[in-house]
Amino acid sequence: MKAFIPCILGFDPKQDNLDGFYGCVEAQGRGTLHCHMLIWLEGGLNPNQIKEKALHDGGDVAFQKRLIESLDDTMSNSIPPDPDSEFETELGKFDPCATRGPTPLDQSQNASLSHEKDLHKLVKRCQSHSHHPTCFKYWRGPPEPKECRFDLDEANVVSISMIDPDTGELTLRCLDGLVNNFNQTMLEAICCNMDIKFIGSGPAAKAILYYITDYITKTQLQAHVAYAALELAVGKLGEYDPEIDDVTTRAKRLLQKCAHSIIAKQELSAQQVVSYLMDFEDNFTSHKFKNLYWTGFE
Ligand SMILES: [Zn+2]
Repeated sequence: MKAFIPCILGFDPKQDNLDGFYGCVEAQGRGTLHCHMLIWLEGGLNPNQIKEKALHDGGDVAFQKRLIESLDDTMSNSIPPDPDSEFETELGKFDPCATRGPTPLDQSQNASLSHEKDLHKLVKRCQSHSHHPTCFKYWRGPPEPKECRFDLDEANVVSISMIDPDTGELTLRCLDGLVNNFNQTMLEAICCNMDIKFIGSGPAAKAILYYITDYITKTQLQAHVAYAALELAVGKLGEYDPEIDDVTTRAKRLLQKCAHSIIAKQELSAQQVVSYLMDFEDNFTSHKFKNLYWTGFE
């Protein structure tokens, strides 16, 4: 992350090239650490200004064109063709995720070909989706349509990006419905799966913001695990004895025991523990952000 932020995002606190970023480290089901990031892009246009600019005087065509070109350039969603099925890089027999891309030897012998081959393999290996039973685990059967919960489908194809002239809504191209959005430079650098989305304006932006908010506030602790922990805590505290127990102290001890037993029930991956012991950061931000306690605010 320390290299990713200055080198790939190109963030430089002395320059005004990015408006800001906010990233949190999370462990996935198998424990691997990964970062979810929101990045505010250069230019300082907020979604409403983009929409206004796109609609102004029947649409600022030059602006629309530039916006679409830059988004199409940043995000890809198709498997780039195999440049040569005969050609193999020096590390060709290994999984592309287990190598660091073309070697110095590849670079010197056949730079562009080895580069294209590497990207082709990475996209195929990391970004292309095939459905598994877990894609449909929330499906309750017909008449409900059987949809992949990751929203990947062969039929999701949009050949070109466009802005609706009436609503200003942006629809981005999708060349292969089974390939997750990626940024070429990032994929080549990190050699593992990634996802990237543009959050603009209108209902699509609202839907994404809802999803993010819902996702980051989801509780890590399932109710039945929490109740089991509470039961354990109450059991450890023992029977209440009015002769010995002072009510306030007892209440404090109960809370303490509950907290300890809930924390003890939280599963941590080896990577999370190592990251904590090594004192690595669990979040990356360009600014200081304030907490907002939504319930109280509302
Ligand atoms: Zn699926």
